[in-house]
Amino acid sequence: MDRRRRFEKYDWLISKTQSILKHYSCPESCNASCCKHHIIDFYRKEYEKTLKNVDKESANILKSNAVKSELEGCYKAINAVGQCPLLINSKCRIYNNRPEACRTFPFVIFPDMEAGFGLTLLLCPISVNIIQDYAEWYKSVNSTMYNQLNTVCEQYKNIDKNNDFCIQMKEHNLDSFIEFLEKK
Ligand code: SF4
Ligand code: SF4
Repeated sequence: MDRRRRFEKYDWLISKTQSILKHYSCPESCNASCCKHHIIDFYRKEYEKTLKNVDKESANILKSNAVKSELEGCYKAINAVGQCPLLINSKCRIYNNRPEACRTFPFVIFPDMEAGFGLTLLLCPISVNIIQDYAEWYKSVNSTMYNQLNTVCEQYKNIDKNNDFCIQMKEHNLDSFIEFLEKK
């Protein structure tokens, strides 16, 4: 896949995650567990843009805690206790300028050699609700998936923080799933 189509795919996936996430809200009890347990990658351009757009102190915090990520062309921000250094009292100090990876969480857009990018959903309190709806959407399409996703929801319904378990979101299901959410 050429560069232009890859980036179109990336933007398309971002817009789909936003169309899904607008139907859900994070429970207060979660207390930003993702920012404490999941280290976010900033693409280089996004990292530079963030440094320009945030207040001076946040920019200094970001700069002094940024290291090269394992993902090519990315940085990650990590403090001495392995958390995002931009989280203060369970609030993001750059919320309006937070990177795409934070805006799409618990969805993760990952590079894929053939498809350009793919989409997974990590497990956390909000994603249990998404999986429950996804199972409902599957009910009339594929009963095996319906049963499997319901089992996941049952197993994790009382989860109170994020977890490395993930499910793959098939891109050809996304538009139909969003339509299902709009009608709910
Ligand atoms: S871990 Fe999930 S539910 Fe908790 S704040 Fe992050 S996205 Fe929201
Ligand atoms: S930049 Fe903000 S939203 Fe993203 S991980 Fe850090 S504190 Fe959380």
